Amino acid sequence: MVDSEELLNAEAADHFHEECGVFGIFGREDAAAITTLGLHALQHRGQEAAGIVSCDGSQFRVERHVGLVGDTFTKQSVMDRLKGTRAIGHTRYATTGGSGLRNVQPFFAELAEGGLAIAHNGNITNAMTLKRRLRNQGSIFSSTSDTETILHLIATSCEKEANLRFVEASRQLEGAFSFVALTSKKMIGCRDRLGIRPLVLGDFDGAWILASETCALDIVGARFVRDLKPGEMVVVTDKGIESLFPFEAQNSRLCIFEYVYFARPDSTVEGRNVYDVRKQIGMELAHESPVEADIVVPVPDSGTPAAIGFAQAAGLPFELGIIRNHYVGRTFIQPTDSVRHMGVKLKHNANRHVIEGKRIVLVDDSIVRGTTSQKIVQIVRDAGAREVHMRVASPPTRSSCFYGVDTPETAKLLAASMSIGEMAEFIRVDSLGFLSIDGLYRAVGEAAREAEQPQFCDACFTTEYPTRLLDHETSSVPTSSLLAVGGQ
Ligand code: SF4
Repeated sequence: MVDSEELLNAEAADHFHEECGVFGIFGREDAAAITTLGLHALQHRGQEAAGIVSCDGSQFRVERHVGLVGDTFTKQSVMDRLKGTRAIGHTRYATTGGSGLRNVQPFFAELAEGGLAIAHNGNITNAMTLKRRLRNQGSIFSSTSDTETILHLIATSCEKEANLRFVEASRQLEGAFSFVALTSKKMIGCRDRLGIRPLVLGDFDGAWILASETCALDIVGARFVRDLKPGEMVVVTDKGIESLFPFEAQNSRLCIFEYVYFARPDSTVEGRNVYDVRKQIGMELAHESPVEADIVVPVPDSGTPAAIGFAQAAGLPFELGIIRNHYVGRTFIQPTDSVRHMGVKLKHNANRHVIEGKRIVLVDDSIVRGTTSQKIVQIVRDAGAREVHMRVASPPTRSSCFYGVDTPETAKLLAASMSIGEMAEFIRVDSLGFLSIDGLYRAVGEAAREAEQPQFCDACFTTEYPTRLLDHETSSVPTSSLLAVGGQ
């Protein structure tokens, strides 16, 4: 018999997943409580585990737990322990390689100079090389996480001054990282030189906040100050805030998938409201891939804003033809392919009354393995749809991500081995259309993708990675088997 949790996990495995959210606050008595709220807003960036480290200026308290933020950090006993005027926190998504308490962040260590906690979103593509060197020098690792590597680089730095230790450590890192760190005197936030993963600065009645997304500021009523620049390191102390730039200036290559799927629709990422972009994506899609149909139906929830945009641009009614059950849990067992086929009904059901006899445009954010799409199409057909036309709010995903996103290996991506016609046959739709890469760039407000110097990371669509993949270049082993990736 198939376990219902496995079925849910199967559906989760058919999407790209952002692996982490980070949050930090400096300068409030209730720092841990605010961090809990911030993490709650960032729960979509990771549901396997959460952690908070607080500090009262000398003593650190660490709470790291498997489960949702609300499972642990609403308990009075836990919150009572997290004393201090500063705190950092982390939400983590599971991958095949690295679940378990030892990989839950923030990491904390007592160094010669005092305590240091760090939480990270992204993936260090040379972490294995760095780890090997550090091990040879005597470092002992307690996790399989690339984040612990950052902590060891800071710990073993020859620099005397704290900021310079962070600078020296960060300069050795390749790949994607947005981290927040806490010492007894400082909170430090840093974005990699290309700004692949987001990180914003906020102000809450004089207390500084660093967070993966603006929705984590909104939840507590904090003021958005600005996005950190690519390659910027922000140092917050009792005296205020200063910015360092450890890396040579480079053009931003923010992950464009943040707009397609990862970020919450109410967040603003680098000046663009995510909901607006997703609607615009739907409009572009309607122009690029028009179809004769009766209604537009989103695959909820991630396909909804694009479906609204599609319907508006196409002049078709928008209908909730598929209903999602929001009260289903999630676990992290890797399912088999056969199980994957059965997973979707737990979460989605067709609204027969809306669908029967109609020609449907089904809008989803992306197609990864295709098995979820296949099942959803079947549900809609079983409910009496006359025709099913799938429109996808991103280009075909052809490559794995090595920058802190949980993705299947490239061979398992449908678009890596099939033409669009073959994919249409596989998911059994009457027609299939994807947004073009230029359409995606137009939707985020760019005139076009600049081939010589693209404005975003779009490697999972174009296979053009903005950095060297280093540890991952010579291996055919999936990323998650090499190392627990994604700042776990
Ligand atoms: Fe984002 Fe680039 Fe990863 Fe794709 S490859 S998910 S665009 S960071």
